[in-house]
Amino acid sequence: MLFKGKIKNQLLTLFVALVIFLSGLNALLGQAQAGTVSPTVILNGQKLFFDVPPLIENGRTLVPLRAIFEAMGAKVYWDAAARKVTATKGNTTVVMPLYSTKPTINGVVYTLDVPTKIVNNRSLAPLRFVCEAFGGKVTWNGNTRTIKIDGNFPDNPEPQQQIVVLDAGHGGSDPGARGSSMNEKDANLQVALKTGALLQQRGIRVEYTRRDDSYVSLEERSSIANRLNATVFVSIHMNSYGSSAASGTETYYYAPSSDAELYAQRDERARLARAIQTQLVNTLQRQNRGVKEANLSVLRNTSMPSALAEVVFISNPTEEGLLQTAWFQDKAAEAIANGISSYLQK
Ligand SMILES: [Zn+2]
Repeated sequence: MLFKGKIKNQLLTLFVALVIFLSGLNALLGQAQAGTVSPTVILNGQKLFFDVPPLIENGRTLVPLRAIFEAMGAKVYWDAAARKVTATKGNTTVVMPLYSTKPTINGVVYTLDVPTKIVNNRSLAPLRFVCEAFGGKVTWNGNTRTIKIDGNFPDNPEPQQQIVVLDAGHGGSDPGARGSSMNEKDANLQVALKTGALLQQRGIRVEYTRRDDSYVSLEERSSIANRLNATVFVSIHMNSYGSSAASGTETYYYAPSSDAELYAQRDERARLARAIQTQLVNTLQRQNRGVKEANLSVLRNTSMPSALAEVVFISNPTEEGLLQTAWFQDKAAEAIANGISSYLQK
């Protein structure tokens, strides 16, 4: 009995060791599998395809943020400078800073187990949080490695086409500022049309508040952009001052903390203005008067990120002279188009 018992014990020990070994092996294999085979994501019955596949990390599935947000019908902005993704849908705004475990939903901070990260130039974040933020219900099937997301999302979300609305300041009976031999409205229109042509060459849809010398009210200008649900609105003006000595370039945006909707776009609006100002200053080499904030009608009343560029001073004889050349108008247009393009690239 004693002898038999010893064997039994030894067998039992061996058995336990084997189980521990196998379960360890299984865990290792499971981890290896988790690292290589990416799970399938089904949203309202349709399989989603990602250019960067979802991955599992510490038991959490990370998915490309933009793709999943857009599939749920949210609008997505990527702020490269602040390294964060902002998604909005209805009354919900989700802000996800990268390499952080502290996203916010409508300003309320949440804590994630796994931080957001960048893989192959795509921002990835835990899928469950991202989906539930917009009211999606997430279920995981371990056998088929399938994640089901159900919710009230658009059935066939169309890729959002980017629309740029260009606003040539003044026009018709409103000449804007007057130089010694040129009206601001004409310089604005030339630069706006040239900017639009460049953007169209890059495959961007461009709309104008005016394409000729006609009068358009300030309210109508922002309404045109709002009706189109434009991606960005850029107003083009020339500056003027009592003294002919004033010169240079400045770009405006508006996002006061007193207006919740505008304030929510503050980073985006500032980024758009900065992108345009940087390109204008680098290209035109006129004095850098900086990015400024002002309560201007077209900036206040546009529902998307908007900026207003005061390219140069029509009241400065040197700059008015430059403005009268096609070469300088082309340069200004190129700079504004490049600023808008770099903003849109996220
Ligand atoms: Zn003006």
